[in-house]
Formats: sequence, structure tokens, C-alpha cells
Amino acid sequence: MSKKFLGILLATAMVAGTLVGCGSTAAPATTEAPAAEAPAAEAEAPAAEEAAAPAAAGGKVGVAMPTKDLQRWNQDGANMEKELKAAGYEVDLQFASNDVQQQVSQIENMINGGCSVLVIASIDGDSLGTVLAQAKEKNIPVIAYDRLIMNTDAVSYYATFDNYMVGTKQGEYIRDQLKLDTEAGPFNIELTTGDPGDNNAKFFFNGAMDVLNPYIEEGKLVVKSGQTKFDECATAEWSSANAQSRAENILSSFYADGSNLDAWMCSNDSTAQGIVAALDANYSGTWPIVTGQDCDIVSVKNMIAGKQSMSIFKDTRTLASQVVKMVGQILAGETVEVNDTTTYDNGTGVIPSFLCEPVFADINNYKELLIDSGYYTEDQLQ
Ligand code: BGC
Repeated sequence: MSKKFLGILLATAMVAGTLVGCGSTAAPATTEAPAAEAPAAEAEAPAAEEAAAPAAAGGKVGVAMPTKDLQRWNQDGANMEKELKAAGYEVDLQFASNDVQQQVSQIENMINGGCSVLVIASIDGDSLGTVLAQAKEKNIPVIAYDRLIMNTDAVSYYATFDNYMVGTKQGEYIRDQLKLDTEAGPFNIELTTGDPGDNNAKFFFNGAMDVLNPYIEEGKLVVKSGQTKFDECATAEWSSANAQSRAENILSSFYADGSNLDAWMCSNDSTAQGIVAALDANYSGTWPIVTGQDCDIVSVKNMIAGKQSMSIFKDTRTLASQVVKMVGQILAGETVEVNDTTTYDNGTGVIPSFLCEPVFADINNYKELLIDSGYYTEDQLQ
């Protein structure tokens, strides 16, 4: 508890000096290819910069990831493991198949297995309170990784990308591509967001809707399905199949009469992939704008093929580096670097956060962002 307050105090003092973001476009620590479609076990994560690694700090760090099903968590897990090991830590890395109970018992094992810090990307932000009370009892600090863990005072820090900004960039892209400020319209749009148990999903959705809502209210953007509320547009587990079946229903109910669809706002790539599959099979009008996030390999290929219009590059290497830095600072009793002490209230108070910068990606800049930076090889995108 006192650690958290100390963190907040120190963080507040530091904010002015540390508003540097993660510099997602900065040169990577390595040119080695990161994990890709292959499962984490076989995938090669980018190497941490050996020379810059802090002296072996020792201790075991538990890293709990939600699932191996989506590409990004394999990359996040592999990056974290590689960087933590390079910094001298033992690592207990677990993936939980999107099963909350499995994640809870993995965390329990980490607590009982001697981990000094826990780094957790939750499946359901509201389901970890009980197990994290055990961590708190043992004075094991918890860093919420990418997704905020809600309603528990056991969370010391949060590291993520600026989630609201992700949604804003998606909404602005649609606004600019459809020239909503100058064209008469009306334009048809549908909306798909993520898992209701993931706090990020609401930030993405609200970011996009804060841009799009005025045009919907004005009638320039029309949502023929009428589904504009978060819960109506949510996708359990961010699953492509779930997104696809909802999209198929919408297409057959509202667009089978030949109505044109101008845009489909998707909060991330896995849902965008479901929308693209539904459009491929059930829609014959002009191909709509489709947004996304993550630069998953499948989605980058869809961008190259003209089926997804944009994505957001969240360089998981920089997030991992930042979190490894946080782990080191926590264990050394140093000031933990954060750059946001106002945005992320988890129900028990604001959690001091480090927000990395999400970067817009499309067909015009993906080579520079993804290939030149060593994130993917050219072959992976073929
Ligand atoms: C992450 C997104 C990701 C989604 C599905 C969110 O919490 O921030 O990057 O697309 O989960 O895995």
C-alpha cells in the first residue's frame, strides 16, 4: 500500500520529466525477427540488448498471459521472457487458454512458487481480486500488463499503450477517409469491439465513438443494424469467429438488399479478420473501410490485399522493455518510471501507469514500421 502511495508521489514528481512515451517507432534493440504466427515456444523473440541489460538482479518473475490463440500475446510473452532472462531473472511464463480459472491457478502457483513480482495480462479484469489478495499478503507487487486489473488494491503499476488514443485513431481514419466534414453522405457504418471483461475494449470503443458519434447523431453516418452501444458491439474473447457470426447476421439482415456498406469500425485485428471473412462470403457491394489494431500478420496480409484498411502498430518489444525496467526499479526500491497518474482508476484508485504510444499503420507505411524495424521479415508477410 505504502509502496503504491510512494509510487504515486514520486510518479507525480516525475511526470513532467518523463513524458517520453515508449517511442514505438524508435529503433528496436535488435534486428532479429520477433515471434510471429508460430507458437511462442518455437517463435524467436527479439533479443534484449545484451550490453544494456542491467546487472543480474536475481529473483523469479511470474508472467501470466491470457492465451496463445491470438498472435500478440505470444509475442508479448516471448518478449517478456527473453528480456527478463537477459536481465538476470528467472521467469515463470504461463498462458491460460482464455480460461479465467486456469489463469487464477497459474497466478496462485506463481505466488506459492516464490515469484518476487507478478506481471499479469488478465483475461477478465474483474476476476483476479481474490487471488491477488494473496499476493498482497505476501508483499508481492503486481504489474498489470496491457490490460488493467480491476477492483483490487493489489495492483501496484500498469503498463500499456494509450488505449483511448487507439480508438481515436480508428475513428479519425474513418472520418478522414469518408471526408465526413465535407461530403454530404449519408454513409453506412457498422461497429465491432472487444471483450466486455477487458477494460481496454471500452477505451478503444469510446475513443472511436467520441469521433464518430457526432456524425451518427447528425445522420451523416448511419448504423443500419442500430447496434451502437458497447454491449451490442462487443465480441466475447475478441474471437474472430464470434465477430464473424455477428457480422454475418448483420449483413444478411440489413445489407442483403444491395445496400452499400462504407465502413466497419473494428477495435482490433482479430475482430477485423472475422469481419473480412463475413464480407468475403456475404457481401457484394463496394469493399468498406475496415479498421483494426495490432498489426497481426494475417491483418497485415489483408491490408496488402486491400481487405483491411489500417491497423495500429503496438510494438510489443517496447512494452516488454518498459515492464522489465519497472520490475528492476521495483525490486531495487527505486522510483518507478510512469507517465500517467490520472487516467486509469481500477475502482480502488488511480493506478500509476506507463502508456506507450500506439502508431498508425497502413499500406503506405507498414514496410518501414514492421519490416525495416525488424518486427517482421518480408517473408512472414508473403
Ligand atoms: C489488447 C489489444 C488486443 C486485444 C485482443 C486487448 O487488451 O490491448 O491489443 O487486440 O486485447 O487480444
